[in-house]
Amino acid sequence: MNINNIRSDFPILSRRVHGKPLVYLDNGATTQKPRCVVEKIQEMYYSVNANVHRGVHFLSQAATDEHEASRRTVQEFIGAASANEIVFTRGTTEAINLISSSFCREFCKPGDEVIISAMEHHSNIVPWQLQESILGIKLRVLPITDEGEIELEELERMLSSRTKLISITHISNVLGTINPLEEIIEIAHRHDIPVLIDAAQSVQHVPVNVQQLDCDFLVFSSHKIYGPTGMGVLYGKEKWLDKLPPYQGGGEMIASVSFEKTTFANLPFKFEAGTPDYVGSTALATALKYLSDIGLENIVRHEHEVLRYATEQLLAIDKLKIYGTAKNKSSVISFLVDGVHPYDMGVLLDTMGIAVRTGHHCAEPLMRRFGIEGTVRASFAMYNTKEEVDTLVAGIKRIAGMF
Ligand code: PLP
Repeated sequence: MNINNIRSDFPILSRRVHGKPLVYLDNGATTQKPRCVVEKIQEMYYSVNANVHRGVHFLSQAATDEHEASRRTVQEFIGAASANEIVFTRGTTEAINLISSSFCREFCKPGDEVIISAMEHHSNIVPWQLQESILGIKLRVLPITDEGEIELEELERMLSSRTKLISITHISNVLGTINPLEEIIEIAHRHDIPVLIDAAQSVQHVPVNVQQLDCDFLVFSSHKIYGPTGMGVLYGKEKWLDKLPPYQGGGEMIASVSFEKTTFANLPFKFEAGTPDYVGSTALATALKYLSDIGLENIVRHEHEVLRYATEQLLAIDKLKIYGTAKNKSSVISFLVDGVHPYDMGVLLDTMGIAVRTGHHCAEPLMRRFGIEGTVRASFAMYNTKEEVDTLVAGIKRIAGMF
């Protein structure tokens, strides 16, 4: 894996910010886009654009072919058994809202429980809270240790005949913890409970195969895996998706409509009301192919080395504490420097061209668990280098010296 070649595929990485070379370490929020993805969007609008599925004319069929081929690319990328199991959504958030709404409506009565973990992003908390107020379900929270690992032995104790679903993140966007999905899914399935995986922070960092994992649902966002914004994926086992009612109504998702009775389309279209983002889907497929060509195993190795180096260098800074010290971690480091507010740290790093995220990272309950308001988060992608880590470390030292 040639890091210079990869960096040259991302035009934005060579720009300057505040007169300094950009050091982009906010990849957990969104990743930058390689040229091939942006060119695909341009090609779709310049040469292919037409509404999909309905047209008999050449362009409509070409756009439909591209869109459906993209579904198969996603299917292959995550190892799904069928393209019918791939539903395009606007992102992780919409995909979780789809499942929480349709699943709870079909399978939950008041008092039934959904289990999440203490390290979830708001998008895997609030949709379930909406179902608490709509349907009277109950949200239960699996605790985590001070290192940021889930307390697996608690999971077995929390399960009961009321438990209807476990919805858990694969990788924490704050702590970087890689959760032990195999064990969680094995425990859940022993009790006939389905599992939803929030893979928003994982598919771009580690190989994910839904059939090997045997998860029931898995969701991710295109923009965090080098693809376009406004596009995402819901994977669901066909046996589950078949049983779930539609989430939204409209065109594309019907078999036939009359004022007396409407019947719904087959999978996956039952869950795709309205004109789909066929430009987004093809650009996402381009991003996935780009990633596959580089090889996820190479990306894992590189990012792990950057994480190891960054952790070592950051820990050497006086009064710096890292939040999230799980044994199995992805390339995210949340930290605080004693006496420096994370917001000040973020703003001052920005003046040096260094982009990090500060605040609660859409995980307020997790911040409360650690008794803090927020952190500074550096999140690394395949194009980040040890030299950039050095720039970050020098910046933090300078700022710490000012306070
Ligand atoms: N889940 C996790 C773990 C995330 O990190 C994020 C975004 O940061 C989301 C869900 C929400 O993703 P999106 O805003 O793309 O829907």
